[in-house]
Amino acid sequence: MYAARMSNLPPYLFARIDEMKAEQQKKGTDIIDLGVGDPDLPTPAHIVASLCEAAKNPDNHHYPSYAGMPEYRSAVAEWYKKRFGVSLDAGKEVIALMGSKDGIAHIAEAFVNPGDYVLAPSPGYPVYRTGTLFAEGRVHEMPLTAQNNFIPLLEKISKKVVKAAKLMFINYPNNPTAAIAPDGFYREVVDFACEHEIVIVSDNAYSEIAYDGYRAPSFLETKGAHEVGIEMHSLSKTYNMTGWRIGMAVGNAEILAGLGRIKTNVDSGVFNAVQQAAITALRGSQDCVKDACAIYQERRDVLITGLRSLGFDVPSPKATFYVWLPVHDCMAFSAKLLSEAGIVATPGVGFGSSGEGYVRFALTRPVARIREAIERMRRLNL
Ligand SMILES: *Cc1c(COP(=O)(O)O)cnc(C)c1O
Repeated sequence: MYAARMSNLPPYLFARIDEMKAEQQKKGTDIIDLGVGDPDLPTPAHIVASLCEAAKNPDNHHYPSYAGMPEYRSAVAEWYKKRFGVSLDAGKEVIALMGSKDGIAHIAEAFVNPGDYVLAPSPGYPVYRTGTLFAEGRVHEMPLTAQNNFIPLLEKISKKVVKAAKLMFINYPNNPTAAIAPDGFYREVVDFACEHEIVIVSDNAYSEIAYDGYRAPSFLETKGAHEVGIEMHSLSKTYNMTGWRIGMAVGNAEILAGLGRIKTNVDSGVFNAVQQAAITALRGSQDCVKDACAIYQERRDVLITGLRSLGFDVPSPKATFYVWLPVHDCMAFSAKLLSEAGIVATPGVGFGSSGEGYVRFALTRPVARIREAIERMRRLNL
């Protein structure tokens, strides 16, 4: 009944974890879910109020424009200027997305012919792979290992693959490893892209979730980046707006036009009232972002201190709301955590083969629950 490409879609490990979780819940286990990459904090009140107001205006009830409201695109351009010092032409170098997943899932369709390679980090956000499969491209996994500080070694990619590569995804601050881009990495990526004519897609969903004074850069800050690539960004993680479905793709106008052309044929844009609320978020006070980071930072410190007290050697992340814990066997480890302690952590292999040997904890639960998780793990003899 199903098309052949369906069998190439990754086995949905997360669905399997949900099943195991449901089993535990049926037994009455009090689950501490540190699996989901979805903030537990609510969207700030001024943003919600802005949506309510905009929803009452009948002008907003029609089909939105494909690329986004001019005012939303201007607000994105202003935010990029203020936050990263990156200048964007709001008319050509910014488009609205229904969350960055929308852009990531569709970009390959605009640039990849059957058999072309797409370079994607492993472990990585699973949609890099599925988007490639929909375009009938081939995924070349760039392993992110502790030894290389979770940065891909571009010179290790075979000449044959590089020659047939059309697109490369990069993602810093990184999900799931929580790594940040070291100085010079984006320079190296731009040079590589120029030399081999590869379109770069930087996924910067976590740029605002950072600690200890770290400020994550945009890929587009690097000289020449504008000529070779685009950046996908999103309000989801910055403003606790995962359910709202709004993001943006910015950068090279020609690349964006390709993505825009695909999208024009498959969707009809983002509800104008949601765009209005997003304008409020981008133009308003950013104190809510600072407050959220302070909350994540406390949770991070409790989890890291706790894990270290259990004998784990785990680095404290500078950004994202994840902790990437090295373990012996990730499937066995997560299964044990869930069945014996009621804790959900995501096995690293769910993000690609190079994720084996790790589990990912999300800091999306209150400090008290994280403390409780540590105490339960202490009793487990891990
Ligand atoms: C959450 C996430 C996204 C997508 O978020 P949207 O809600 O679709 O904007 C993209 N990339 C990574 C790495 C993520 O973790």
